[in-house]
Amino acid sequence: MSDCLFCKIIAGEIPSTRVYEDETVFAFRDINPQAPTHVLVVPKAHIADCNGVSAENSAVVAHIFEVIPKIAAAEGLINGYRVVSNCGSDAGQTVQHLHFHILGGKVLNLEMA
Ligand code: 5GP
Ligand code: ZN
Repeated sequence: MSDCLFCKIIAGEIPSTRVYEDETVFAFRDINPQAPTHVLVVPKAHIADCNGVSAENSAVVAHIFEVIPKIAAAEGLINGYRVVSNCGSDAGQTVQHLHFHILGGKVLNLEMA
């Protein structure tokens, strides 16, 4: 997707602070962190949001959930962390490229909505 912000970050056209990368997954620090650790984990292939996950592409989502604990461990999140994916406007999704927030490094607010 040529006009997608996260596709541009993955391609290196927009700078980011990378924390993890492999063939199918890219992870980088959120530009506006909501916790001491705030990392975004994204598939390299463009998927708009959770509604775009299908039998054809869900392997990358499974892989993301293998990668998340490795990132959390590397970030020292030994007391836990939160994984969030906002889907659509009611959830406050602002970038239309599937992403999983990893939030941690403090006791997080328990409110879910
Ligand atoms: P959403 O609100 O869609 O769930 O999350 C989008 C996230 O992307 C936000 O937390 C926002 O701070 C982050 N973000 C937006 N633009 C950029 C950027 O250019 N670089 C980085 N690293 N993060 C960004
Ligand atoms: Zn994209």
